[in-house]
Amino acid sequence: TATLTDGVRAEATIDLAALRGNLAALQERVGSTAVMLAVKADAYGHGAVECAREAVANGVGWLGCATPDEALALRAAGIRPEQARILCWLWTPGGPWREALRADLDISVSGRWALEELLTAVRETGIPARVHLKADTGLGRNGCQPHDWPQLVAEVRRAEAAGLLKAVGIWSHFAAADEPGHPSIQAQLDSYRAALAHAELAGLRPEVRHLANSPATLLLPETHFDLVRTGLAAYGLSPVPEVGSPADFGLRPVMALTARLALVKHVPGGHGVSYGHHYVTPGPTTLGLVPVGYGDGVPRHASGTGPVQIDGKWRTVAGRVAMDQFVVDLGGDTPEAGDEVLLFGNGERGEPTAEDWARASGSISYEIITRIGARVPRRYL
Ligand code: PLP
Repeated sequence: TATLTDGVRAEATIDLAALRGNLAALQERVGSTAVMLAVKADAYGHGAVECAREAVANGVGWLGCATPDEALALRAAGIRPEQARILCWLWTPGGPWREALRADLDISVSGRWALEELLTAVRETGIPARVHLKADTGLGRNGCQPHDWPQLVAEVRRAEAAGLLKAVGIWSHFAAADEPGHPSIQAQLDSYRAALAHAELAGLRPEVRHLANSPATLLLPETHFDLVRTGLAAYGLSPVPEVGSPADFGLRPVMALTARLALVKHVPGGHGVSYGHHYVTPGPTTLGLVPVGYGDGVPRHASGTGPVQIDGKWRTVAGRVAMDQFVVDLGGDTPEAGDEVLLFGNGERGEPTAEDWARASGSISYEIITRIGARVPRRYL
């Protein structure tokens, strides 16, 4: 499926049928719970607008963005409020509150400065806000600490009573849902339940309670509540590779990265390869030049370790990954310039996967796909 378009140097193919299938598999897993597709960071490199359109056309009613700009871009691209609610959760002072209200976004609030700026914008525009109150149940990142929660809840309740907002969501985010049995999981679930109970006692009636990311969606049904926020699993990768492969969870990788060999040449033994000469040919051999590098998102930490498939055989990055290119030792084989190099895909052609690149570079598959840069054209299947 991932045959390169004529003439291109490299290409990321995005299998929208796989995305659809993954979303359906996730929906089936969570039953009547709603599914949000996390489309932040350009949908983890897959193209936010294209993936959002595909998701909403297939019944996904929630999209998740980090920054308000990402969310506003989706509305500007024509994702209408009646098609999908869009939650954005990473606000900084002076953010585009008015635009967010006009674009009918769902807004996460973690603390007082945000509530104050939001309420100012509500008074100016006359548009009441839809707010998701975020509790820090233990991640130690965004969200309101338990000792500040009662005051934040009280202020939100007052604003709600004044008709300035509706507290539609109470939510939080896991620190280690991808580590089965990690003690923080139960502690966060308990803390979340306590935050919910307090909010309800104070008179808030949230329409969506949400806590689960991909690993929790796959492994921890007790965390699903009303909505699960899935990114990685929807893009067909396993957030818990040591527990199960994508196929084990009924998922298929959506992105494949393919390049075209730029040069094949014979070299003698003892020839240094790429910056620093960290690879030296063990004997006479052929080298293949792959015209993608860290400027395209190929991790430099995969120098000497990253796997590719050429003519059905796996080869390893020889020496350093450079900004625009890297080299593989073809061991005497002579594919031709122009032949395909499969960096990663869904594995159906025996090629490496994003998970293989994650392992080769000491990272996670989230980072591998998300970093594939704007210089690489996307082709939608
Ligand atoms: N919710 C929040 C707040 C996130 O930041 C993310 C992404 O890290 C997700 C949900 C989706 O996570 P995952 O890709 O594991 O499903």
